[in-house]
Amino acid sequence: MDGIHLSKRIGIVGGGITGLISAYFLSLEGHKVDLYEKKTLLSETSSKTTKLIHGGIRYLENLQFHEVKNGINDRKWWLENFPDETKLQEIIVLSKRRFSSEILKFFVGIKIYETFAGRSNIKTGRLYKQEDLLSFGIKNDIAAGISFFDGLMQESVGEEIIKRCKSNGVNFYENHEIKSIRSEGFIEEKQYEKIIIATGPWISSFLKQNKIDTNKTIDYIKGSHLVIKRRIKNGLMFRDQKKQRYIFALPYKDNLLLGTTEQRVSTPEDKQALDSEVNYLLESINIYIDRPISKDEIIDSYAGVRPLIKSKVKDFHLSSRDFHIQKDKNLLSLFGGKWTTAPSIARNIVRIVNNE
Ligand SMILES: Cc1cc2nc3c(=O)[nH]c(=O)nc-3n(C[C@H](O)[C@H](O)[C@H](O)COP(=O)(O)OP(=O)(O)OC[C@H]3O[C@@H](n4cnc5c(N)ncnc54)[C@H](O)[C@@H]3O)c2cc1C
Repeated sequence: MDGIHLSKRIGIVGGGITGLISAYFLSLEGHKVDLYEKKTLLSETSSKTTKLIHGGIRYLENLQFHEVKNGINDRKWWLENFPDETKLQEIIVLSKRRFSSEILKFFVGIKIYETFAGRSNIKTGRLYKQEDLLSFGIKNDIAAGISFFDGLMQESVGEEIIKRCKSNGVNFYENHEIKSIRSEGFIEEKQYEKIIIATGPWISSFLKQNKIDTNKTIDYIKGSHLVIKRRIKNGLMFRDQKKQRYIFALPYKDNLLLGTTEQRVSTPEDKQALDSEVNYLLESINIYIDRPISKDEIIDSYAGVRPLIKSKVKDFHLSSRDFHIQKDKNLLSLFGGKWTTAPSIARNIVRIVNNE
């Protein structure tokens, strides 16, 4: 990326999107990368997402401008570098009233979102009248909608990243749990010039197990999704039944993907979609659509635990999705982030590796 550097031997622990994109960027720089994954590549948090490649329009509400900008910048990277594995998705925000503070807030928010994207804005949204919404199967008491565009990943994106890493010479060791590391550069007994810990929500327990101190704590916030046997053309974004947070309904493999929830759990192993979450998601969407969705239409469900960095904010719905890189001798430990911003994390990793 910058300047001339020598090829280094790099070891990565964790084969989620953060570890994989770091491996990909490092391999593009000519470094020799070994990546160790406890299970199979991309089988944990990284396969349990809402599939959005986004800046996170709803984070504007919490004034998280830096994160939104980062996300929008990385969204461009994904869409340009994986054109066959990502697509543009229109998402309509639904509102019960035509002239409401909510519609006004979203109008302003979408304009800020599109302005942040600048020349890399992917497409401009529009206003929808009630008549338009009726034809999408939206209830007749929903008076208006306003849309914006974001990126949506296809399932094949993971396979493509793995393929590109392999062709750049990255060695993958799957079903290989790493028990011990040393900050001098050891993964078990193998020595590397730099080691990167990308264990997502397992970062705190992994560092503790290896007696590496940190002042960051992970807040384990579980999110569940339902796959529903219904086709939808446009994505929808709407307030939940308690009017506290937003839920997405998105097209997904000829079905509808509905999510997500946010529940604090005490361990990253707590990955069950509970009945209460299923009811919450269905009751929330059924406020807006003409033909209510029943439980019989659920064909799959999945849940994952977000690796959020614990913050001072009491309400975890407002927690930041930002990331942090901790340096200890030859060890780089990764905290937080989201799928979309994995390239930002990887760019920072490359800068550190090349310059040290
Ligand atoms: C419900 C939900 C919805 C989300 N939606 C979106 C979205 O729409 N868009 C977006 O951009 N982001 C989204 N995210 C965030 C995104 O999923 C995560 O930020 C990202 O996937 C984290 O990737 P990771 O590589 O850090 O962690 P993971 O994917 O969890 O990878 C860590 C890997 O480390 C491995 N590991 C752990 N310990 C060891 C060990 N000792 N030895 C070897 N391997 C080990 C694990 O098996 C795992 O595979 C969502 C997250 C959730 C939970």
